[in-house]
Amino acid sequence: MATLSFWGGVGTVTGSKYLLESNGRKVLIDCGLFQGLKELRERNWQDPPFDPESLDAVIITHAHVDHTGYLPRLVKLGFDGPVFASRGTCDLLKLLLPDSGRIQEEDADYRNRHGLTRHEPALPLYTEEDARETLTHLKPVANDGESVEITEGFRASFRVAGHILGASLVLVEIEGAGDDGKGRKVLFSGDLGHYDQPIVKDPAPPPPCDYIMVESTYGDRLHEEERPEEKLAEIIHDAVKIGGPILIPAFAIGRTQELLYLIRELEEDGKIPILPVRVDSPMAASATQIYNRAREEHDEEYVSILSRRVHPLRTRSMITASTREESKRLNDEKGTRIIISASGMMTGGRVLHHAMRILPDEKATLIFVGFQAAGTIGRRIQDGADEVKIMKQNVPVRCRIEKIGGFSAHADWKGVLRWLEGLSEAPRHVFTTHGEPEAAAAMAGHIRDRFGWMVSAPEYGQVFELE
Ligand SMILES: [Zn+2]
Repeated sequence: MATLSFWGGVGTVTGSKYLLESNGRKVLIDCGLFQGLKELRERNWQDPPFDPESLDAVIITHAHVDHTGYLPRLVKLGFDGPVFASRGTCDLLKLLLPDSGRIQEEDADYRNRHGLTRHEPALPLYTEEDARETLTHLKPVANDGESVEITEGFRASFRVAGHILGASLVLVEIEGAGDDGKGRKVLFSGDLGHYDQPIVKDPAPPPPCDYIMVESTYGDRLHEEERPEEKLAEIIHDAVKIGGPILIPAFAIGRTQELLYLIRELEEDGKIPILPVRVDSPMAASATQIYNRAREEHDEEYVSILSRRVHPLRTRSMITASTREESKRLNDEKGTRIIISASGMMTGGRVLHHAMRILPDEKATLIFVGFQAAGTIGRRIQDGADEVKIMKQNVPVRCRIEKIGGFSAHADWKGVLRWLEGLSEAPRHVFTTHGEPEAAAAMAGHIRDRFGWMVSAPEYGQVFELE
């Protein structure tokens, strides 16, 4: 008998962890950190619901921390097996996991210094060193549908999911898992990309399968029709007219590269003047190199730009600041320039140093290009605060605030249906995961209405027997 159980990424978009068990073997798909609400974050600290030492292998769909950030904890608690992921995902994890370890250490440090801890001293969930140890478990595989052995009785194949670089749909084939003694195929969509997103390919069609787990982040919403490049050009023209700088807080991986791609395109088409572009984030600089090297992930347009010997992620007058000194030098610049810096929700990082200069400047423009979660500085500014506290200083907000809504790395519910249309036969059961409860339920409804399949939105801890 084989089972599938749900230990995260259900009822929430974070903490993704799905466990497949068959014939005494256990394989975990994704190993994400819970984020956001306190009761969710506390799960990161509880004993895991399965013994890490008993797992035979882990499979990762993509590099985002809500799918991978618990891995170093798992290793720290005794997991000693291989971690399979696409080559692009493995490259990004080499940046992301040590950074996540550093953040955990800084958090513990902060709690200790401010007496915010229940147990003395506060300990990090894991350290940068634990994260580096985790990297030695990585087994990079091709993202092209080739099947690899995961452990005895389990094989898996990875295909492009079009969400961020390296993101995969993963098909797991389990020998003898069915009631009839035959094998069963379980497909994990991971996070599914938005069709026609620049740089990365569109999601590959779903391969035939018995069970399917599909994400539902936007299960109850549709994306705005707005074309981000047009809005961006408009805002840049306005900024040029008044001669002020532009600051764009952006995630270092994914969104920053998308912005560079669009700005380069607008410059090439003569839709905006050539302006100084400053990328101030060491992680964004490394991620951009990984994006440009990962040939198997590029869409046709990207390949055709490369064939013209143009760097798709370099604008005409661009400087990347990696060191602290390079970053400081950017402060002396004057006039209209575009500064792209992390973090995307202004929760930390170099973007805060720029914000202290930009926010009080009436001529400056701040552009939001991503979701701003409740409780972040980004959200307070977006909600219209006239003053925010940054590094213990009160900073007045006098600059222009703009928002571009057309960016997204996730398919909306129509995009998910479009992807599911690629299935030639009805699966035995569909699970809607990776969504807030209303979104997961709405996505299940859309699938039922459209295809008439068996669909459910699983709950935390639910165990499902494969037939
Ligand atoms: Zn993701």
